Amino acid sequence: MKIIRAEHLGMCFGVRDAIALAVETAGRGPLTILGDLVHNETVLTGLRASGIRIEQQPANVNTQTVMVTAHGASDRALRRTRERGLNVLEATCPLVHVAHRSLAKLVRAGFHPVIIGKRDHVEVRGMTEDLDEFEVVLDEGDVAKLQERPRFGIISQTTQPVEKARRLAQLIRERFPQSEVRFIDTVCQPTKQRQNAAVEIAKKSDVVVVIGGAHSNNTHELVKTCAQFCARVHHVQTAEDLRAEWFRADDTVGITAGTSTPDAVIDAIEQKLHQLAFISTETLNAREHYEQRQMD
Ligand code: SF4
Repeated sequence: MKIIRAEHLGMCFGVRDAIALAVETAGRGPLTILGDLVHNETVLTGLRASGIRIEQQPANVNTQTVMVTAHGASDRALRRTRERGLNVLEATCPLVHVAHRSLAKLVRAGFHPVIIGKRDHVEVRGMTEDLDEFEVVLDEGDVAKLQERPRFGIISQTTQPVEKARRLAQLIRERFPQSEVRFIDTVCQPTKQRQNAAVEIAKKSDVVVVIGGAHSNNTHELVKTCAQFCARVHHVQTAEDLRAEWFRADDTVGITAGTSTPDAVIDAIEQKLHQLAFISTETLNAREHYEQRQMD
């Protein structure tokens, strides 16, 4: 069994910086993170173990300092939190800020805002909460429901596949030929690199292991992308999720991982794959040996 890693995989700089800021701040005093800093249970467990509290609702925060996650928040939400007298620490990724600024620019220029992404994702909520009117589209069905507007201004959630974002923007152009449609590509560079590297690895592999949290959007997108080029794709969160029966001795196994997956989890999974590779090679050798003896 041959095991190969995608050229780009795992934690992005935005998530690494947010975790470092949380740990550093918690070293100076009590800290609550508002929402999941990243969609990865291993990382969240580690943060809780270092005394950091994680709350989903602002009303439940009982520390003086509260951190907004890498996914960002709306100006309204930030203002509401500050009005409660709390110190707000922003771990918002700079590339999420770029998406917010692009959206604001389109709205100021008179475009009706359309966000390609998941309506309930915290990053998308952070973008839409400051808007009076907006649309969120995730697929062709959502585009079909749009009402005509003179001008559409489109951006994307940072972790959507860029090809999908371009395709949906083009579909909006075709559906409303009379409208002015402007698309600003706000898919982040680390997501693009991981998506492209996932395609490359899926083309070369008999089976692909995608590592990432159960609720991680970019991990789910990596699974879907790999499934277009490889028939056997498995999403795992930890090494314990790997099953020996997924692999054959002569398989090429590709590994990729979402942007919130820690290096240690990727390393542990690669190590376990090497163990499984050793076992399956031994089994294959034993079977060949047995078959040879039967023929003799
Ligand atoms: S996935 Fe992209 S936007 Fe999100 S934290 Fe990472 S680099 Fe930033």
